[in-house]
Amino acid sequence: MNKKHSKNSLKVIIVGAGASGLYAGYMLNKLGVDFTILEADAIHGGRIGKFIGFADYDIDIGGQWLHGLNNIVGELIQNKGVSLTLDDTPYVYYFKNKIVKNLPKNPFIFEDGEMPDISFKNYAKLNGFSSSYNEIINSIAGFSGADADEISTLWNYLEVSKSKSGEGDYKFENTYFDILDNFFTKSISDKILYNQIVKEINYMEDKVEIRTTEGIEYNAAKVLITVPITILKSEFISFTPALPESKIEAFSKIGMGPGLKVFLKFKKEFYPDNIIGSKVCSAYFNDTTGKKTKDSILIAFIMGKKAKVLCELTDDMILESIVQELDLFFTGKASQNLLDFKVFNFSKKIFIKGAYSYSTIGMGNAREIAAQSLNNKLYFAGEAMNVNGNHQTIHGAMESSKIAIENMFS
Ligand SMILES: Cc1cc2nc3c(=O)[nH]c(=O)nc-3n(C[C@H](O)[C@H](O)[C@H](O)COP(=O)(O)OP(=O)(O)OC[C@H]3O[C@@H](n4cnc5c(N)ncnc54)[C@H](O)[C@@H]3O)c2cc1C
Repeated sequence: MNKKHSKNSLKVIIVGAGASGLYAGYMLNKLGVDFTILEADAIHGGRIGKFIGFADYDIDIGGQWLHGLNNIVGELIQNKGVSLTLDDTPYVYYFKNKIVKNLPKNPFIFEDGEMPDISFKNYAKLNGFSSSYNEIINSIAGFSGADADEISTLWNYLEVSKSKSGEGDYKFENTYFDILDNFFTKSISDKILYNQIVKEINYMEDKVEIRTTEGIEYNAAKVLITVPITILKSEFISFTPALPESKIEAFSKIGMGPGLKVFLKFKKEFYPDNIIGSKVCSAYFNDTTGKKTKDSILIAFIMGKKAKVLCELTDDMILESIVQELDLFFTGKASQNLLDFKVFNFSKKIFIKGAYSYSTIGMGNAREIAAQSLNNKLYFAGEAMNVNGNHQTIHGAMESSKIAIENMFS
């Protein structure tokens, strides 16, 4: 391989500047280790970002809630004057063609104890839930980024129950993106190289050689790969020597489906805070909870097969489906009050290609195998590599980097 870019020789290269890659950089910086982050996109953040100008507050494009305070992010912000609100707004349900506050049976049955390795859909059936509950069960699976017939009750339970992150969903007064930027990204911003699409990683020799799609080469002693599991599964990045079969099989067992967030701006709030069980969206959330605002902003949160369907449509068609559904719920009030909308489709982002990872049927210890380092040179992090039950989250992505970096220098 041509080494004419040897001036780019570095000790650690981090591939990806999402929460995981940025936190890894922050840790290496503190350790005094030389590093560079190679990011394919023109911006950092990955599945976290902010959108300015849509409302009188900045909007979280992707990750938004801090799930529990007993985790890396909770520790980072502790006693630092960060304004955050516990979001304990109640759900209502679209059930048997109307919005109801309570259901005849509690559908949140998936974290109750050890269960068979079958889908949420089949487990609900086994527990006597009629087809009237189908969309509600789909919504619950949707919170985990999956459809009800894709996610395993057993592995989801076994994985999630390992988490010690704590209870409660918190929202920042500003965006999650700002929290990360202010607390650690700014201190390492000169180490991020944008538009560097990593295509080849050769870890045959003492050094690891990395090549981008533009043919730029970088050398490092060690590489931390933090790209989404979809990118690893697609084998877009080629490895020399090839990754072990066991690792490729492990990647294939980690689920990650499509996901969209659609923001809707209305003249007034004619809707309750959270609606689940709808046909078009996994859930509707009031985005203004915890924000200082005079605006009325609703999020349509779409995961699993519902997202697959909407991903085929144009933004205007997506809006039409959502407004039609809300009009049905609230007798035409959605179209009467609509001011603006914005679609954020993570499935169409070519370096993300989906929402977040979930536990599949027959998954076993795939996450452990996927996250293992190779030859003391290749390390893997990112939300899908979190083995402590904190996958699917921002703090989980950061925690996976903490584990990888500790492993790198142990
Ligand atoms: C709609 C949505 C809502 C969510 N809500 C929440 C929430 O409320 N709370 C929460 O905690 N989490 C939430 N999450 C999940 C959370 O956002 C993710 O778990 C987390 O941001 C993932 O971080 P990461 O670093 O692992 O991956 P990413 O953020 O995906 O970062 C990976 C980076 O790698 C880059 N990359 C990919 N391929 C290459 C390549 N070949 N070369 C170089 N770079 C490459 C990508 O561009 C990207 O920047 C949500 C996610 C979505 C999509």
